[in-house]
Amino acid sequence: MAQLVLKRGSDRRLRAGHPWIYRGEIADLRGPWSAGEAVDVVDAAGSFMGRGFYNPRPSLACRLLTRRDEPIDPAFVLRRLRAAFDYRRSAPGAGDAYRLCWSEADGLAGLVIDRYGPVSVVQCMTLGMARIVPWVAEALGQLFPGGPIRRADDPTPARIEDFEPERGWLGEPGPEEIVIAEGPCRFAVAVGGGQKTGFYLDQRENRALVAVHAPGRRLLDAFCYTGAFACHALQAGAAGALLLDSSAEALAAAQQNLELNGAADRALLREGNAFDALRQLEAAGERFGLIVLDPPPFTRRKDAVDAAVRGYKEINLRGLRLLERGGVLATFSCSHHVTPALFEEICREAAGDARVEARALATLAQSRDHPVVLTVPESRYLTGLLLQAV
Ligand code: SAH
Repeated sequence: MAQLVLKRGSDRRLRAGHPWIYRGEIADLRGPWSAGEAVDVVDAAGSFMGRGFYNPRPSLACRLLTRRDEPIDPAFVLRRLRAAFDYRRSAPGAGDAYRLCWSEADGLAGLVIDRYGPVSVVQCMTLGMARIVPWVAEALGQLFPGGPIRRADDPTPARIEDFEPERGWLGEPGPEEIVIAEGPCRFAVAVGGGQKTGFYLDQRENRALVAVHAPGRRLLDAFCYTGAFACHALQAGAAGALLLDSSAEALAAAQQNLELNGAADRALLREGNAFDALRQLEAAGERFGLIVLDPPPFTRRKDAVDAAVRGYKEINLRGLRLLERGGVLATFSCSHHVTPALFEEICREAAGDARVEARALATLAQSRDHPVVLTVPESRYLTGLLLQAV
């Protein structure tokens, strides 16, 4: 096997528990290697540090898969996925839709697998993972015999890693749409279609937390996607809901979900830019008892954090002004460069500018089937606050 030799001092991050190696940290590659194949990683003195897939194309050239001297083979993938499944089975609240494999958090950096009923949706984020999809499929076949497998690669990492993003069934096709249960609600999911792998599984626990504050209140669900927060709130007794999204396709799916949950008669859907809509609602003197702000990531890059901060500040300022006294705002960021501390700072400034006295009822995070690796801060991307106007 080829050997990736680190520059002197470049082993520090690895030793601190972080699995990533950047191109500039590599001193030498010894032996025959091929992009996407496993290499042994050694420090400048030649000591073995681990094993991972190497790709010369992206600046993030290698992510360790193991720190032990074990082969990266089909049995390895099966062991890791079995452990991932064992954790999900014991995790609180996991229903029939959950994230089975969350990349570094499950020891399979570059691989995401979501489960929707019997269907597994596989997303490869590295060339190495794209190359071993047959091993992944084999392991899934052992864990979930006969379950259909769908590939839903995100084009952005595929471009960076230089592989063809695949979308479609691996082997026998399964259903294009599946109805999943999440707590008391049901949702129609276009498996492997739409955004993410079809559904924002990472907000499952937050939807339940928000629903607690719904009875008797009117909800504004901005950036609603397929309406999952609104369905939960209405199911829990919200008096009504206004759903906003810029995607007509997402709103059509939201309408379907509202109907599935017997809540369509209390909901209003509006297509458009939420930034404009929030401003218009404020100008019209509207107020809400419950507001959810769950925008897409405003930045994926570290150098664009300032612009993202302005975006978050703007919507939170508007959101806070639209709150009734005593009303509750659930506000989120899924830009991993925006840390929980920075997000809290943004909301604090927004509250100051809006002249709203708010108390934080809870700090929110991604659901526990998307665990955070303590030594890999990048695995925490979703942060939020549950605020109440007092
Ligand atoms: N809360 C949702 C997930 C939201 S994802 C859930 O629990 O399922 C973010 C959504 O914001 C997407 O549906 C996207 O279409 C929408 N969006 C992106 N930019 C927008 C904008 N400027 N105005 C309104 N919606 C926007």
